[in-house]
Amino acid sequence: MDQNLVGIVLGVVFILFLAAKFFGNNKMPPTKAFRCAGCKKNEAYSKRTIEAWRNGYKRIYCQACHVKWLKNNPNTRNTSSGSQGCAVVAVTIISLPIFTAVIGWVVF
Ligand SMILES: [Zn+2]
Repeated sequence: MDQNLVGIVLGVVFILFLAAKFFGNNKMPPTKAFRCAGCKKNEAYSKRTIEAWRNGYKRIYCQACHVKWLKNNPNTRNTSSGSQGCAVVAVTIISLPIFTAVIGWVVF
């Protein structure tokens, strides 16, 4: 009974850890608008610029400047969010067997 309890507690801690990571990735910018690094115009955050802000970009561009930039840099892709996603998947894949082993060891 006590051993089951330890397993449940560990499971809850693990889920809370994942939830904290999930919500950590969903934090919002402190202001509703940003100043475009290109044309210095104040622009409301969009899905794309919020993503850029979360990735730690200091220079955020409005939609018009972003389109202009894409035209000037057709071969440049934003890969930072993709690699971050891969890292999260890798950590999950590595930690799952360890987590299962620990739970199995504690419970059984
Ligand atoms: Zn702009």
